[in-house]
Amino acid sequence: MTTQQTNINYDFLQNNEKYKLLVDINEKLYINKNPCNKLVFIYSAPKVGSTSIVSSLRIFGTDKISVIHIHDEEMLRILGRVTGVTINEIILFNKHLGREVYVIDVYRSPVERKISAFFEKIGAYHFNNKDEIVNKYNVNKVITRFNNIFSHIANGDHFMDKYNIAIPDRFDHVSKYLLVHENGIKYIKLRLKDSNEWSTILTNIFGMKIVSIKDYESSNKPIKDLYKKFKIAYKIPFNLLDELTKCKYLNYYYSDQEKQEYIDQWAKKTAPNTGQYTSEQYNMYEQLSIENSHIDYIQLNHYMDEGCSCKACCMKRAETATKLIMGRTIITEIDRIVHSEAKNELLVKRVEHANKINASIANARHAPQIKGGRKDFNREMSSVVSGRKIEIPNVSKYLNL
Ligand SMILES: [Zn+2]
Repeated sequence: MTTQQTNINYDFLQNNEKYKLLVDINEKLYINKNPCNKLVFIYSAPKVGSTSIVSSLRIFGTDKISVIHIHDEEMLRILGRVTGVTINEIILFNKHLGREVYVIDVYRSPVERKISAFFEKIGAYHFNNKDEIVNKYNVNKVITRFNNIFSHIANGDHFMDKYNIAIPDRFDHVSKYLLVHENGIKYIKLRLKDSNEWSTILTNIFGMKIVSIKDYESSNKPIKDLYKKFKIAYKIPFNLLDELTKCKYLNYYYSDQEKQEYIDQWAKKTAPNTGQYTSEQYNMYEQLSIENSHIDYIQLNHYMDEGCSCKACCMKRAETATKLIMGRTIITEIDRIVHSEAKNELLVKRVEHANKINASIANARHAPQIKGGRKDFNREMSSVVSGRKIEIPNVSKYLNL
């Protein structure tokens, strides 16, 4: 579905201080360094499945699309030490600079999103202990905590609540996405449940071949055993499931039938009613958790493609893109485009290549004389050397890619 509106409001640009801040944040987000004119903000809540879109666009659109992944202003403050600017202002500012701007959000079903968000910070935040230790906790104790905070966590929807755009009356369940033109910007909403169709949807929107890749969920996370147990053991209390049927986001993004299927699926795994923290109690819980927290929450590398544009990463990206287009199985640990790894792989390849050349020179040196004529080894060597520039691999040179 496509809706169109044009009433661009650049009021914030009248403010000089603000303008300077916006120029500064564009530097910090490396937006200025990238010559691509298509600029995509994946502006979504955490744990909704947006990471796979970031990687898909980076792998397939790297020379045509710049991708910025951001969850909230807090992330701006921590990553760029920038305050006083909203993400919406950064988005509008880049439109004002003449870029073709897209903003993408994803909807994920509520129970799954809450579980995922809960586990993301389970050690550092919820239990104030190392993930390795929390991994051994009794799963029932963890379920009780999850139920207590259930209705307070992982709520809200960026597309509806943060984008500040006119939302269509209903989600387009035929096209399976929304595309709203406003402020000269294309705002797109996808649903995680349609991820099998994202390749087609993104290819249509961007007019170039894009193959959607699966989100990177490491199987080596220190919390993996507890997560597995939780997913098997968790039964949703009746009252919480009942609350979900009234959720305005679920009711908007899912058709009546889809919603019924979703509720039915959880109705098979229910538990008796449970108590929950009131808003006041949850505020206290949050405050105490932050006060107690002594382990820094560190988000590990989770992109399939970190977006580096050096030669090593571009070569690796082309290899991975080819595999994806050919429908071959992708193994995250092998096929991901992470600068430090791509750089080492290219170094190894170059050393192997140099070794091969050295070996062929050595072979030529010991080659049998051609019958009927004396082999002019010196002349042959000089032509080999001049024709194919042979260098002894210099490690420091390759490391500085
Ligand atoms: Zn790189």
